[in-house]
Amino acid sequence: MNTDAKRILVTGGAGFLGSHLCDKLIADGHEVLCLDNFYTGRKRNIAHLLQHERFELVRHDVTFPVYLEVDEIYNLACPASPVHYQNDPVQTLKTSVHGAINMLGLAKRLRIPIFQASTSEVYGDPAVHPQTEKYWGNVNPLGIRSCYDEGKRAAETLFFDYHRQHGLQIKVARIFNTYGPRMHPNDGRVVSNFIVQALRGEDITIYGEGSQTRSFCYMDDLIEGFVRLMSTGPDFTGPVNLGNPGEFSILQLAEKVIELTGSKSKLVYKPLPADDPTQRCPDISLAKKVLGWQPAVSLEPGLKHTIKYFDELLRDA
Ligand code: NAD
Ligand code: UDP
Repeated sequence: MNTDAKRILVTGGAGFLGSHLCDKLIADGHEVLCLDNFYTGRKRNIAHLLQHERFELVRHDVTFPVYLEVDEIYNLACPASPVHYQNDPVQTLKTSVHGAINMLGLAKRLRIPIFQASTSEVYGDPAVHPQTEKYWGNVNPLGIRSCYDEGKRAAETLFFDYHRQHGLQIKVARIFNTYGPRMHPNDGRVVSNFIVQALRGEDITIYGEGSQTRSFCYMDDLIEGFVRLMSTGPDFTGPVNLGNPGEFSILQLAEKVIELTGSKSKLVYKPLPADDPTQRCPDISLAKKVLGWQPAVSLEPGLKHTIKYFDELLRDA
C-alpha cells in the first residue's frame, strides 16, 4: 500500500495527455478523479481504467463550478489542437479563463496545490529563440489563435494572482508540442496528421513552405515532467518550460514520417494559417536545474511508437 497515496483531480483526463497522466498517477498508487466534458477527449483513452478501484470518471464542463474533495489538482481541460480550439473560440477562452477560476476556487477552498497545463503559445510568434521563461512573448490578441493563446495567458495571470493574493501553491508548466499514442486520428495537429496521411497513402499536407520549426516531445517524457513539477516544494511556482529542445522544420518532420512509414505519399503545399509561429524551441535550463528533468526520447523512436499505435488503430477501424 502506498502511504503517500493522494486523491488527485485531473481535468481533461480523457484527452491525449490527461489519459496518460491518469495512467501514471494510478500506477504510482494514487486515487484519480478524471473530469472531462468529452469535447476532444474520448472514452476509449480511459476505457482500461474504468473498472479500476482507484479510478473515477466525472462528466463535467470546467466552465461551471464543481464541488469535490481532493488533495491535488492537475488542470489540463482545454482543446489543444488549433482546428478544435478555433471551432468554438468563445468556449475555448471560457474553458481557459472560467475553468481556471473554478479550479483555483476549488484549490483555494481545499488549500491544495494546483498544476496548470500552460503552453509555449504564451510566447506567440517568438522574437527570442530559443524561448526562456523570462520572455514575455509576441502574441496577436485579435487573431484566430488568440482564443487559445490569450486564454492561456489570462489563466497564468489568474494562477499568479491566486498565489500572491491567497497564498495558493501553484505549479505552471509551459508545454511545447507533445505527441504520442492516443492522439485522435482527426486531431488536426501536425504529427498525427502526417502519420495518418502517410499510413493511408494520402497526400501529406504541408502548410506554407514547411520551413517553420517546432520541437517535438514524446508524451512519456512530458508526463514525468508534470509529476516532478507537482512534487517541488511550496515555493516553486514555475512557469517552467517542458519540451524537447530538438528543433525540426515541418518539412523535415514530413520527410522523417515518410521514411519511417515507408509511405508513397506525396507532399502537397497548402496556405499557411494566420499567425502560425515561424519558430519554436524551448530553453529547458530551468527544468533541468529545478526538476532534474530532460527528455529521454528523441524524435525517431518517439515517432516509431506513435506510428505503431496509429497503424493498429487504422487497421481496427
Ligand atoms: P486534448 O484535446 O487531447 O485534451 C484536452 C481534454 O480537455 C479533452 O479530453 C477535452 O474533452 C477536455 N476538455 C476541453 N474542454 C473542456 C471543458 N470545458 N471541461 C472539461 N473538459 C474539457 O489535448 P492535449 O494535447 O491532451 O492537451 C492537454 C492540455 O495540455 C491542454 O490544456 C493543452 O492546452 C495543454 N497543452 C498541450 C500541448 C500538446 O502538445 N499536447 C502543448 C501545449 C499545451
Ligand atoms: N501543419 C502542417 N500540416 C498539417 C498540420 C499542421 O504543415 O497537416 C503545421 C502548422 O501550420 C504548424 C505546425 O505544423 O506550423 C504545427 O502545427 P500544430 O497544429 O501541430 O501545432 P501548433 O504548434 O501550430 O499549435
